[in-house]
Amino acid sequence: MSKLGIYLHTPFCVKKCAYCDFYSAPGTPEAMDAYADALCAHIRSSEMAGRGADTVYFGGGTPTVLGVRNLVRILAAVRETFALDPDAEITLEANPGDLCLRPQDGGNAFLPALAILYAAGFNRLSFGVQSSSDAELALLGRRHRFEDARRAVLAARCVGFENLTLDLMYGLPGQGMDTWHKSIEDLLALAPEHLSCYALKLEPGTPLFVFFGELPDDETCLQQYLYAVDTLAAAGYRQYEISNFALPGRASRHNRKYWIGAPYLGFGPSAHSFSGGVRWAWADDTAAYTRGVYREKERLTLSVRDALEEDIMLGLRTTRGLDPAVLPDGMQADAAAILEKYVPHGLVRREGPRYLLTPRGMFVSNAIISELFGIIPD
Ligand code: SF4
Repeated sequence: MSKLGIYLHTPFCVKKCAYCDFYSAPGTPEAMDAYADALCAHIRSSEMAGRGADTVYFGGGTPTVLGVRNLVRILAAVRETFALDPDAEITLEANPGDLCLRPQDGGNAFLPALAILYAAGFNRLSFGVQSSSDAELALLGRRHRFEDARRAVLAARCVGFENLTLDLMYGLPGQGMDTWHKSIEDLLALAPEHLSCYALKLEPGTPLFVFFGELPDDETCLQQYLYAVDTLAAAGYRQYEISNFALPGRASRHNRKYWIGAPYLGFGPSAHSFSGGVRWAWADDTAAYTRGVYREKERLTLSVRDALEEDIMLGLRTTRGLDPAVLPDGMQADAAAILEKYVPHGLVRREGPRYLLTPRGMFVSNAIISELFGIIPD
């Protein structure tokens, strides 16, 4: 039986970033302690208690606002409930300016907080750096400056973390190629094991959407993306998914589960789970969740069509690619013809029986994937 990935959601942030429409809000220290109680109780009540797990991912929101004491006891609840591998990958998303002990945890220091987390078993940190330009960080409404991120990385190394991933954003309003090049150069200088590069999306209702309404054109974004792909490849990072790059052996084991259809369990409001062909998600209601009301907002048994769409999308988004032979007989020739059509344009390439998107193809993956969805029979 496949081992589980465990996802723990934190629905709190100190303040909303200007581009974010995720389910998160500010919370008091008391609300966060009560939330951590509810999360631990929910984990311990899992119907899959006792099952093996090999990845744990603390995401959000901003998990580090929960404070070190809560993070450690949530991880302890996971260990008590599931048979966690001794070498499990245990990731914590962290805001570069946040990793401090809260007063009720006994202080306000950065290094001791990281040292406690490392000793508790956290072994991978994900820092949302986003840019090395303080002007761009201010535009995004981020609370940190690049110097905070640099110090966070140094402190993490200092206490022993050997697996760090950094997030970067491109396609920002007014972002020129010069600041993009500089951001990549500055992040590479921090020598992370893994990098994620995401294009900014303007979500209606967010301050950035209201103020800007439009972003750099597609050609500018494409050039930024291709520059990242080439520069990271030259620095030894292998692209293994549209937005993700890793040194050899450092691809995210947890995220890989999402892309190969492996089972994962999510805890916390808005967290998703998948197991045995069924996908479900918890309601976006932190207040109810904190009272111990664990209500589902959706439950879906994947249809044959859903499963095929997942196979196509996940294959082409990753370096796994798509072998038309895995599709039903009636689709194989049409799928191959669609993919073959893009080969001369440099968007798709062939590797044995599999078709893979090139970096240019990944940039327009939605259009190619939609075309393939169109040949799935009803
Ligand atoms: S820290 Fe992350 S989740 Fe929180 S508001 Fe900013 S982008 Fe959204």
